[in-house]
Amino acid sequence: MTPTARQSGLKSWLDAGLRFFYPDACQLCYSEPATASEGYVGARCWQSVRFIKPPFCECCGLPHEGEITTRFECANCREMDLHFQSARAAVVAGQLVLEVIHRYKYQRALWFEPFLADLLVRAARPALAKEHWDMIVPVPLHPLKKREREFNQAERLATRLGEATEVPVNTRELRRVEPTRTQTLLTREQRAANVRHAFAIRAGCQLQGRRVILVDDVLTTGATTSACARALRNAGAREVKVWTVARGL
Ligand SMILES: [Zn+2]
Ligand SMILES: [Zn+2]
Repeated sequence: MTPTARQSGLKSWLDAGLRFFYPDACQLCYSEPATASEGYVGARCWQSVRFIKPPFCECCGLPHEGEITTRFECANCREMDLHFQSARAAVVAGQLVLEVIHRYKYQRALWFEPFLADLLVRAARPALAKEHWDMIVPVPLHPLKKREREFNQAERLATRLGEATEVPVNTRELRRVEPTRTQTLLTREQRAANVRHAFAIRAGCQLQGRRVILVDDVLTTGATTSACARALRNAGAREVKVWTVARGL
């Protein structure tokens, strides 16, 4: 064995040992340092995160390539009958962010939460500070699904946003009354039909004149958040604005 080979062999053995004793490594590439407060996403992986900047669709926040000078509404919004006033997302749902969300949601990789919450807070806090909001409402899970998954990712992210903005989080009024099938493989029309009657407001609850921030992890066509917004507005909410961590393109 050459000295270099021996050295690199020793180095990888040492690295493995160090990772065992000091497991503060990025949980995406496993080859750079990252801490618990960073949600175990290292600086290099962070660089592939794309924050959404204007121009984007006025209604659903879909980023638009190139210059636009007039008010712009995308094809998705023209086809969907969306019930929220507007939706904004912190970042583009690229490969890295989607992997984090998937592992967080379905594999209980809760250590990613500070990373996801950080993305949401960085983008939403300055925007929310400009106006008065009465409450933050997370998209609810059906009780059966919540029992299965043990947590609602939207609720946890909403709580983080609530702490950062001091807007109270309300998890009591909006309920998911139908256990719907997953939206992933459905078309735009099927998604809307799948969730149309999935949400309801707790009986006797009054949201008259309230300005509500609705929070979810990802927005794709907006079918789920729109169905929530419809229920909230039917109960009297004056305005429903959606904030999500990521925006599917
Ligand atoms: Zn990394
Ligand atoms: Zn749009």
